[in-house]
Amino acid sequence: MTRTPNASTTPTAPATSTSAAKTVLISGASIAGPALALWLHRYGFAPTVVERAPELRAGGYKVDIRGTAIEVCRRMGVLDEIRANSTDMNGGSYVDEKGRTVGELPAEIFGGRAEDDDEIMRGDLARILYKRTRDDVEYLFGDSIAALAEDADGVEVTFESGAVRRFDLVVGADGMHSNTRRLVFGDERRFKRHLGAYISIFTAPNHLGLQQWETYHALPHKLISVYSSAGETTAKNSFVFSSPELPYDHRDTARQKEILRERFAGDGWEIPQLLDHADRAEDFYFDSLALIEMDRWSKGRVVLLGDAAHCASPASGQGTGLALLGAYTLAGELAAAGGDHTVAFDAYERVMRPGVEQNQRFAEGFAKEMTVSSRRKIAMRLFMLRVLPRTPLRNLIAKKIREDVQKASHAVPVTEYGTHATRA
Ligand SMILES: Cc1cc2nc3c(=O)[nH]c(=O)nc-3n(C[C@H](O)[C@H](O)[C@H](O)COP(=O)(O)OP(=O)(O)OC[C@H]3O[C@@H](n4cnc5c(N)ncnc54)[C@H](O)[C@@H]3O)c2cc1C
Repeated sequence: MTRTPNASTTPTAPATSTSAAKTVLISGASIAGPALALWLHRYGFAPTVVERAPELRAGGYKVDIRGTAIEVCRRMGVLDEIRANSTDMNGGSYVDEKGRTVGELPAEIFGGRAEDDDEIMRGDLARILYKRTRDDVEYLFGDSIAALAEDADGVEVTFESGAVRRFDLVVGADGMHSNTRRLVFGDERRFKRHLGAYISIFTAPNHLGLQQWETYHALPHKLISVYSSAGETTAKNSFVFSSPELPYDHRDTARQKEILRERFAGDGWEIPQLLDHADRAEDFYFDSLALIEMDRWSKGRVVLLGDAAHCASPASGQGTGLALLGAYTLAGELAAAGGDHTVAFDAYERVMRPGVEQNQRFAEGFAKEMTVSSRRKIAMRLFMLRVLPRTPLRNLIAKKIREDVQKASHAVPVTEYGTHATRA
């Protein structure tokens, strides 16, 4: 699909017609927000990014960049830096409660990655995108949108700091618990579907001495893992557990740490020590594996992007890729429509939605596989892992896993928006 941007929206000649958008407020400076800012600036718009945190947030899991998202990174001019910051993981192994290896995941199966795909820490990618945009884009840290009032010509935004400003458009790139979505579309509970598990991840001392390696310990309904990626002196501790939806405030970190302790109390291996690290972690992350499903991603001059619009959960392995593809597509459609949001928002949704839904279905399936319900089933899985490397099936299974992942990661196309869109 090709959209030719209106000449008035090229970087040298910004949009000028009466319907043309010029100023865009983006809520959220993680992945989707800065990526959109990069593209909008390139097309001649004037983006402002507001981020609730006082500074760029570090932390987070290793995130995959696969399939068509790789091409978007190439076009953003950040692919080399992503490669330089790659996690470069070599594989992983399962251990029993005494720390003895009971099964290995060979590199060709680990992550199901194809040759061009890569993996990076979320915080590193956010930093790369921020560095690329901070000189051209206005960033407001430590603030948030308190109220939005749309009229025929734009949106009046009241910030929590008390400041009031007008923008032509507002984009909610503020994650699964999007503030913009709540203000414009209503309560999160209407759109969130819990997939039956929770995940926590945080930085900790690398007391297992891991190097580009992930160690897993499986218990019924639980999976604990520790890894350290290339260039890291620390490790990431990750806990997944199955559970129906739990009542807690998503901003209440202290309560989330308590929940984690309660769930893993009395469990063996290194778990007590890993939990102690949670208490000291500054980048503690805890959330449900959940989907955000909405009939529409825009209302008037406000549009949602990334996890705010269509969180596919960590079980998809595609949240970051979809955020990058969404940013590219939304900016491209706005440029192609000469800034006319009534045309661009529909087109953005048409391009993105089928691929997003495909990835959400993938996540639903994988979420069920992340933990195993009994010790017998865990033993079966470990047995398979042990025999797999010795069978001729090894390559066949690796190929099948890669093919499934590749299908999902190519589900959103890279639309051509004109030659200037590929400028680095
Ligand atoms: C600190 C952090 C750690 C993460 N860790 C993991 C992880 O371990 N595993 C995983 O699979 N996914 C994790 N994610 C989610 C993952 O990064 C996203 O699925 C994916 O990258 C899509 O990015 P996004 O930009 O749409 O949303 P997100 O990455 O969720 O970013 C949303 C941004 O909006 C900001 N924000 C929130 N509310 C407001 C507000 N009211 N006003 C202004 N800004 C606001 C947030 O601080 C954040 O910077 C994490 C996200 C964050 C922010």
